[in-house]
Amino acid sequence: MILLIISINRRFSLFTTLNIYLFVYLLNHNYRYNIHICIGVLIINLLMYSSWCREHPSALSSFREIMNAARGKSIVVFLDYDGTLSPIVSDPDRAFMSNPMRSAVQEVSRHFPTAIISGRSRNKVYEFVKLKEVLYAGSHGMDIMGPPQQANTSYGGKYETRTLDENDQEFVTFQPAQEFLPQIEKMLKKLEKKTGEIDGVMIEDNRFCISVHYRHVKEQVYDAISPICRQISTQLTLNVCVFVQDYQKLEKLVERILKEYPKFHMTRGKKVLEIRPSIKWNKGHALEYLLETLGFTSSSDNDDAVPLYIGDDKTDEDAFNVLKSRGAGFPIIVTSKPRQTAASYSLRDPSEVLSFLIRMARWKSAHYC
Ligand SMILES: [Mg+2]
Repeated sequence: MILLIISINRRFSLFTTLNIYLFVYLLNHNYRYNIHICIGVLIINLLMYSSWCREHPSALSSFREIMNAARGKSIVVFLDYDGTLSPIVSDPDRAFMSNPMRSAVQEVSRHFPTAIISGRSRNKVYEFVKLKEVLYAGSHGMDIMGPPQQANTSYGGKYETRTLDENDQEFVTFQPAQEFLPQIEKMLKKLEKKTGEIDGVMIEDNRFCISVHYRHVKEQVYDAISPICRQISTQLTLNVCVFVQDYQKLEKLVERILKEYPKFHMTRGKKVLEIRPSIKWNKGHALEYLLETLGFTSSSDNDDAVPLYIGDDKTDEDAFNVLKSRGAGFPIIVTSKPRQTAASYSLRDPSEVLSFLIRMARWKSAHYC
């Protein structure tokens, strides 16, 4: 029961809950070193993952099926950055992509229009990727660098600005959250000042949104469990070993600051709290905007675009849902654990993303060159 309460409070998945349960079971039955039990846990995990994979097959195993369905159509590639092109690392400033990954993205972008849509600031993603051939959307799609020659879009120039890069090449920015910038800057200063009292917090300025990273916040035991639950667990002699991060203090602090800014809201990612303007714009909208500026519209009878989106984050689900509602395209989630998702296919980690991108580029070279 206590585990169930904790699971709900901490929003753990069924998969994680089961693993915690088995872990606690092992501790309470002194099977800590029982290799058979450990193998059992491993097998259960593998079975759960393979069962999940039946509904979300590997994009690598399904590569031919995907490419055959896209044959003769225009593939447009959309990629998330963190956890997709780069590994998740403890220091967000050091989430570098490998050179083989950069080469693969470059090769893919030579064959297909390619965009990277990230929660980071657009400039930050560009610093990591350093490829001019790719389009970039930062701040969860609220800061888009569109193609220089845009098709006439349904957005009518609103929020669009024509700009020159350092090589005097023209490009168009689309920033639907421009009006929120002054408030974001104020909130950023307040967050930096107030969270300074909690060790390990890192505030990242993503221009149109703010990330509060808590990966290094100290872990404490029992902080989130009420005294009654604590007593019950003691009486039942349960060795409940639940690591609850000190982040609850941080979460409350962020929520308190957020109350002063009613036009913003908070979402949760991997060891990060994301604050962004409450506008109807997300990675899914960014995908639609980019498709339209590239000349592909969902309403056109001649629309032959096949968007392919690869991402690992909760925010990528918005883009997966757009592909589902268009009834065309391939939403691919990057995860090594079963997850609730709108994606149709899966890849386990960035190394499989690399293999997939390399195969895509080779497939295009083999069939069209
Ligand atoms: Mg990600």
